[in-house]
Amino acid sequence: MSKLTGKVAVVTGASKGIGASIAEYLAAEGASVVVNYASSKAGADAVVAKITAKGGKAIAVQGDVSKAEDITKLFAETRQAYGKLNILVNNAGIYDFQPLETITAEHFHKQFDLNVLGLLLTTQEAVKLIGAEGGSIINISSLVGPMPLPNAAVYSATKASVDAITVSLAGELGPKKIRVNSLNPGLVETEGTTTAGFAQGDFGKHVGATTPLGRIGQPQDIATAAVFLASDDSGWITGQTLVAAGGARQ
Ligand code: NAP
Repeated sequence: MSKLTGKVAVVTGASKGIGASIAEYLAAEGASVVVNYASSKAGADAVVAKITAKGGKAIAVQGDVSKAEDITKLFAETRQAYGKLNILVNNAGIYDFQPLETITAEHFHKQFDLNVLGLLLTTQEAVKLIGAEGGSIINISSLVGPMPLPNAAVYSATKASVDAITVSLAGELGPKKIRVNSLNPGLVETEGTTTAGFAQGDFGKHVGATTPLGRIGQPQDIATAAVFLASDDSGWITGQTLVAAGGARQ
């Protein structure tokens, strides 16, 4: 039997990048997966098709997880499709690096409304659907949570907030047998980091060269760690920050 047979997982922001890979890896271990997306229906449908082609179970559900009404709809559709929930991966997030002088209220709220408030409201709804057998919540944070970067104060603050939320909720939800952990990637080559010019540019080259394992990350490097945190292999681990960055320290 695979590690996640009979489990149901919601992965937010799973139409591409790290979220898509996590959805595929959870499904490969037997979980039924809800592939959430905001606007990339084609991307989410392609992830579902990849999973079902291998005999796995998945559905795509649209929902902007910075909006309370969309979050309610996401879990109503999860309940309707699978009747329960065991695993939530709070992956949807945006990164917009700006130096102090260009920070605006709009820049702040765009990132905090999704990366922090959206994560909290999503978790709130998920917990209502997780039954007596308990579950695992994985918050995709970042290396910049524990090690903030210059010229990225707001994004770094969102991820430091995620790490604080992880510790707080692990204490609060432990009695319900719900584990909560942060999974903190270093730089990973995704659609988002490619579009932003991080992965292939000078920044990516510098990170690869200064990373002990000699390269930047790939989505599957994070997905395998997510499977560990989702499964009973990590059954005694909660409230932790797992950095997956090839040994990179900045
Ligand atoms: P990405 O390639 O930009 O993909 C982002 C995903 O999130 C897409 O599926 C997107 O869906 C979805 N999304 C965006 N806004 C959303 C919203 N409001 N509601 C629901 N879904 C939404 O991102 P990534 O690089 O894989 O990063 C994923 C997560 O890892 C983020 O939390 C990020 O902060 C974190 N992280 C990434 C790196 C890295 O180097 N890549 C490093 C550390 C941490 P649509 O396409 O439908 O909009």
